[in-house]
Amino acid sequence: MSFFSTQKKVATTLTVLVVALTPVTVPAQQHFNGAAALEYARQFVAIGPRFSTSSGHAKAEAFLRDHFRHDQLEEDVFTASTPIGPVAMRNFIVRFPGKKNGVIVLATHYETNYWLKNINYVGANDGGSTTGLLMAIADQLRAQTAHGKTLDGYSVWLVFDDGEESIQPTWTDSDSLYGTRHLAAKWARDGTLEKIKAFILADMIGDKDLDIQRESQSTDWLVALVRQAVKKFRYDRYFFKKDEAVSDDHLPFLRRGVPSIDIIDIDYGPNDSYHHTIKDTMDKISSQSLTIDGDVFMETIRLIDQR
Ligand SMILES: [Zn+2]
Repeated sequence: MSFFSTQKKVATTLTVLVVALTPVTVPAQQHFNGAAALEYARQFVAIGPRFSTSSGHAKAEAFLRDHFRHDQLEEDVFTASTPIGPVAMRNFIVRFPGKKNGVIVLATHYETNYWLKNINYVGANDGGSTTGLLMAIADQLRAQTAHGKTLDGYSVWLVFDDGEESIQPTWTDSDSLYGTRHLAAKWARDGTLEKIKAFILADMIGDKDLDIQRESQSTDWLVALVRQAVKKFRYDRYFFKKDEAVSDDHLPFLRRGVPSIDIIDIDYGPNDSYHHTIKDTMDKISSQSLTIDGDVFMETIRLIDQR
């Protein structure tokens, strides 16, 4: 009787020890705040259509200006030559300084398509979701750089670029990517480009039905690093099942020799029927997808810092 009693007591003590140690040895995975990203997207998309020359575009500019007023914000103003004549455009760059010499750029476009100006097209996924994503990433970077601190790795710059979409319905090399073509050229002239270790583009990745393609022009080592980040969170089923070449904001940087990747889900809705249509609304995007994106973006930054 006492024998069994002693055994039971030992077993109970061991169980308690194991339970107590588990959280220490295997910490619970910290996840990105996708709900915050979704809420930012909701506020931004509520502005309505934000195509070039519209009052919505001016409101979108004011929204970003106000949100980042306490950060290192630069407004990059330029005039684009477009099929409808000269158009005033504006990129927003938010800088978070790091200890390492070099810069990681995360980018998204924020405007909607001029050629969709006659419908109530709000681009919840296309431009909206990734604006929210970068705003929520900014929250983390801001916390890490509070009170004059610097990031442990490279500086991180967030770019909200203008004029990604073509003005005319048919996309051409000269009628598209206005903001990033301007910025890449400017940064080539002033030497900034040489400091950029990686350019990471987010596009259309708020989709509830997340299937991010492997954009086939993207830099191999960056794709490999993103894949490594994906594996850490066991997000394999959302990533890189298909290869696809996409013309997007990474190209002006890629063409100038900056390691670049486009993280994009170009397959949006049944037969892509939500893409550039009135169906691109908030109900098609989710905090879960933005959590997945944020986890992978933050881990990719960490891996680039260690490289
Ligand atoms: Zn688009």
